Formats: sequence, C-alpha cells, structure tokens
Amino acid sequence: MPSPILAVEDVSKTYDGFKAITNLNFYLDQGELRTVIGPNGAGKSTFFDLISGRAKPNPGGKITFGDIDVTQRNEYEINRIGIGRKFQTPSVYSEHTVFDNLVLSLKGPRGVFSSLFKRLNSGDRDRLDDLLKLIRLDDKRSWKAGQLAHGEKQWLEIGMLLASEPKLLLIDEPAAGMTDAETHRTGELLLSLAGKHSLIVVEHDMGFVRQIASNGKVTVLHQGSVLCEGKFDEVQNNQKVREVYLGR
Ligand code: ADP
Ligand code: MG
Repeated sequence: MPSPILAVEDVSKTYDGFKAITNLNFYLDQGELRTVIGPNGAGKSTFFDLISGRAKPNPGGKITFGDIDVTQRNEYEINRIGIGRKFQTPSVYSEHTVFDNLVLSLKGPRGVFSSLFKRLNSGDRDRLDDLLKLIRLDDKRSWKAGQLAHGEKQWLEIGMLLASEPKLLLIDEPAAGMTDAETHRTGELLLSLAGKHSLIVVEHDMGFVRQIASNGKVTVLHQGSVLCEGKFDEVQNNQKVREVYLGR
C-alpha cells in the first residue's frame, strides 16, 4: 500500500464548547481525488480549515502531510509546503488580465516580481500557456478577469491555484452557480488533475459528485465525523446516509 499523502488522525475541533469536528480520521493517497459530502454544518469547511492551518485542532490530534507533521504549522507555511486551497466564492484580481492573474499566482515571490518587471522566464511562460489551455481561457488571456462569466472565474481560480504548484488541492464547491455544461467541464478538469495532483473536493451537486467520483471514493461527513466512506454507489445506498439526507 502506498503511504498516504495526507493523514488526519484523531482530530477534533471545539468552538466555545461546540464540537465542530470529533475524533476525525481521514487518509488520502498520493494522486487520489476524494469527494467530501455532508449536510450543512457537517464540518466540511472546518475540515479544510484544519488541514490548511487556518484553524488549529484541539490537543491530541495529528495532521501529517507527506512526512511532515503540520499540526502546529501556520497557514502560510502549510501553503508553502504544498497545500493549496480554493474557497467557494471565486476571488480573482478583477482589474488584471486573465494571464496576469496566473502570473501573480506563481509560487513564491517570483509571481509578484515577474508582474512588477513585466518579465517572465520562458519556462514559466510555457507552463502558464499550457495552463490557459487546460482551463479553457486561452482565447480570453487578455481579458480583464472582472469581465469573465462566473464559471470562467472559477476556472481561472483553479488555474491560479495550479500556478502556485500545490501537491494537494483543497477545493470547496467548485460547481456552485455553474450551468450544467460548465459543471461537466469542471468535472473533466478536476479528473484530469488527479494522478499528478492529490485533490479533496467538497461538493453538493450529486450529479457532479457522481461524475468526479466515478473512479474514486466519497467521504460523508456528519456532525463532525466520518459517517461513511466508499464508492459513490455504496455511499448512495448506505442506510445511515439516506437517513441523514432524506430523513428515512
Ligand atoms: P459545513 O462546511 O459542512 O457546512 P462548517 O465546517 O462550516 O460546516 O461548520 C461546522 C459547525 O461548526 C457549524 O455548526 C458551525 O457553526 C461551527 N463553526 C465553524 N466555524 C466556526 C467558528 N469559527 N466559530 C464558531 N463555530 C464555528
Ligand atoms: Mg462549508
């Protein structure tokens, strides 16, 4: 068995006496795309907060990324080590072009310097050109990001995340507010990233979950714990999951 790229072991998080996450165990393989679902308030965003260092777990739990214990690292360090996060609402630099949004997102200080001095090394330029094709914004590279449609902004933000060269991507509801065609295209994009990258995707749209989990596993969170984990069909037919989602 390959060793996991991410191990979350016995992690809890309490806010003012309220347990948002309770004794959570979660393992992600290198190159895996895992979909995380769960009702509102299940703890999905808190789970991302804990992995990305935005929030610290209660004493006792442990989060390991590769062979690094990141439990007590701060958000900036964790990002630099290779965990990138995309929030639900796209936040792009509206007044900059699509291409410059990618330049500004290059790993480390080189993005800001390249942008400031209007000079990019050819390796970065080629990589960003490929990235533009991948997110299907090649023909809009000179548009201001603020002019893009909502779905295109989401893709640009995934591109920005990739420009920063993360090993693990945490993606919160990428299909929110998208048309069916955009949603499907987003699924294809995420599936194409698996293998080279490891991904955890939080999502509500069950059609989309079915698409991106076609070869992978789904984890269901409920009241801060893992309720069930498995292939899409197994999860969908699980009695506990049906009770939580459908009240029966
Ligand atoms: P989800 O993303 O699955 O909808 P969240 O992780 O946002 O759920 O929230 C899980 C629970 O933890 C909720 O009851 C929420 O109110 C609580 N919670 C999350 N973050 C905080 C916080 N910073 N302070 C207090 N309570 C919080
Ligand atoms: Mg949430």
